[in-house]
Amino acid sequence: MSTSLEASLPFLADKRKKHFIDGEWVASAAGDAIETLNPATGAVIASLDRGGAAEIDRAVAAARRAFEGPWSRFTPSERHKLIMRVYEIIERHGDELTLLETYDMGAPVSRSAGVKNFVLRMIEYFAAQTMNWSGQTIPNSLPGNYTMMTIKAPLGVIGGIIPWNSPMVGAWWTIGGALATGCTVVLKPAEEASLSVLRVAELLMEAGLPRGVVNVVTGRGAEAGAALAAHLDVDRIAFTGSTITGREVIKASAGNIKRLSLELGGKSPDIIFADADLAKAVPGASMGVFNNSGQICYAGTRILVQRSIQEEFVERMSAFAKGLKVGDPLDADTKLGPLISERQLSRVLEYVGIGSSEGADIATGGNRLSGALGKGYFVEPTVFDNVSNTMRIAQEEIFGPVVSVIPFDDGEEALRLANSIDYGLGGAVWTGNVGTATKMMHGIKAGQVWVNCYGVVDPAVGFGGCKLSGYGWKGGADHVEGFLYEKAVTISGD
Ligand code: NAD
Repeated sequence: MSTSLEASLPFLADKRKKHFIDGEWVASAAGDAIETLNPATGAVIASLDRGGAAEIDRAVAAARRAFEGPWSRFTPSERHKLIMRVYEIIERHGDELTLLETYDMGAPVSRSAGVKNFVLRMIEYFAAQTMNWSGQTIPNSLPGNYTMMTIKAPLGVIGGIIPWNSPMVGAWWTIGGALATGCTVVLKPAEEASLSVLRVAELLMEAGLPRGVVNVVTGRGAEAGAALAAHLDVDRIAFTGSTITGREVIKASAGNIKRLSLELGGKSPDIIFADADLAKAVPGASMGVFNNSGQICYAGTRILVQRSIQEEFVERMSAFAKGLKVGDPLDADTKLGPLISERQLSRVLEYVGIGSSEGADIATGGNRLSGALGKGYFVEPTVFDNVSNTMRIAQEEIFGPVVSVIPFDDGEEALRLANSIDYGLGGAVWTGNVGTATKMMHGIKAGQVWVNCYGVVDPAVGFGGCKLSGYGWKGGADHVEGFLYEKAVTISGD
């Protein structure tokens, strides 16, 4: 890293990162650490303390103390003011935080403004929610003089387990809901990319957040993550990650019947009808899968194309993919950065091999980048043509810039193919016909459907999943409800 860039990231001056517990940096009892790499160069940028059950215990105890102590006395208005102070601080440090993510997980700087804006919109939304949740007074039919109502209260300590593909956004889904409702948080970011989450926790203290409200324990999933998921004093786990890990979290939650939200994997269909405006559909569907180098849960990785335009679409999509600059994420012209790790790179290349051996045609891409980029984990955006929906590349989540183009003849077949999948996270349709659009919108079984666009999300609306993509809503009023529990209250007036 150059000296001038290091100067813009003072957080990296200290290369050994501890846990953030009860408002302070705390070292692991065992003293072990995990190296965290810059995926663009393979160079070590820092090491993270490797937490386990002891650190999770300590963080949960701090979160419980804060929940029952000073934080419980904050009024909604005080929480609102605090969140708006947080907004100002995160806005001021937005460039630093996104640059940290560029180093830590390879997100190109050309995406930074979008990420920063989205995080600020999340914070703004959750600030507004501090005064926007309530119970109800409900007319009852009981003889006598009873008043019946429901009231809502914060659940308590929330464990947030998040993946590496967008760490800050992942963290804010949990922090935001907690600050809006008066809950407290223990976060376990992914071992591959924890730095921006640690820095956010530190910045929250500058805004005047009481100690212990937001804690971060770094470490491996099977150790720190599993300990958090199983902890008997955690009231709810907000998990985002793979479906395989989601199943482990479900099992681990059984000890105290924790509440759960599970935002899991996806393999989303993106349906292109012959009457679509291809000038919009080609770049829209392409970025719907290649954005963040394909490391987005709702990426539209199964492109269903009406057979009459298949050849033209594949040609145009391949040309678009070839035109995307893959490279140094610090270069403003770069559109796609590296994959997160060597492991992820091997996984993606393995799927490229599987696709070829299954008989699909590579229209473009399929290779690791070499030369100056050879030390990083870069792969070309890859388009597979003539894929059948039963192939593994059409059914399994690859989590890289690889798309499968599957032809269909009519709307009925498109819907059947779209829904012939175990996942249900996202889906889209591109068409000039409103009837076709509404048919697909109602017919696609997924937690979000886009019409003539892809991947557009607003924190006030949110999104969710069904089938193997999990349950629980991210964003919107239902998200906030997830941090509350409801009680019915009956008052006798006699
Ligand atoms: P992952 O499941 O391997 O890890 C996610 C988190 O879980 C990490 O913090 C990890 O350390 C932790 N973890 C691992 N094993 C654990 C265990 N046994 N108990 C508790 N925690 C454990 O996923 P990943 O590879 O980091 O992320 C990619 C996956 O995340 C993809 O499947 C992607 O679709 C999914 N994802 C989903 C959404 C969504 O909103 N639906 C968003 C982003 C990513």
